[in-house]
Amino acid sequence: MAFVYLGIGSNLGDRKANLQEAVKMLNAYESISVAEVSSFYETEPVGYEKQGMFLNGALSCKATLDPYEFLKFTQEIENNLKRVKTIRWGPRTIDVDILLYGNLELTDIPRLIIPHPRMTEREFVLLPLAEIAPEVIHPPTGKSIKQLLKELKTKET
Ligand code: ADP
Ligand code: MG
Repeated sequence: MAFVYLGIGSNLGDRKANLQEAVKMLNAYESISVAEVSSFYETEPVGYEKQGMFLNGALSCKATLDPYEFLKFTQEIENNLKRVKTIRWGPRTIDVDILLYGNLELTDIPRLIIPHPRMTEREFVLLPLAEIAPEVIHPPTGKSIKQLLKELKTKET
């Protein structure tokens, strides 16, 4: 059994309903049980800017899936919610990212990297995650989520 943190985001259609649907699909799967879901935050698009605002959240769950099985399932959710995959970092109905998987560090580039390689630079990931997991440690840096968020905010200003 592993404790897993996920980031979810949407900027197409009914964004809140998309996020809620993703949470529902995760929890409906017998190998996953959702523990906590953060608030949803409205954020500016990053990477490719000519697109609508995102709604982002984070959640924690207990799972009996290995990391690759977990990725496969999150990709099924993305496909089911008809994510349109045309532009990298472009508009999407739903994006589900594996942020943390217990204290595992996995580098299988580009297929699966855990912790998620861009999470420490993304306020839209750290902000919701800090709400449900402020003291959780990001294994590669040894820093808490709360600390990483604080450092990111200092860097920006
Ligand atoms: P991003 O998640 O940075 O917005 P994408 O969702 O477009 O970018 O990237 C999807 C690809 O990233 C997938 O093909 C997947 O194999 C790969 N990937 C690598 N590490 C992870 C991870 N921790 N969580 C989800 N996808 C990952
Ligand atoms: Mg993704």
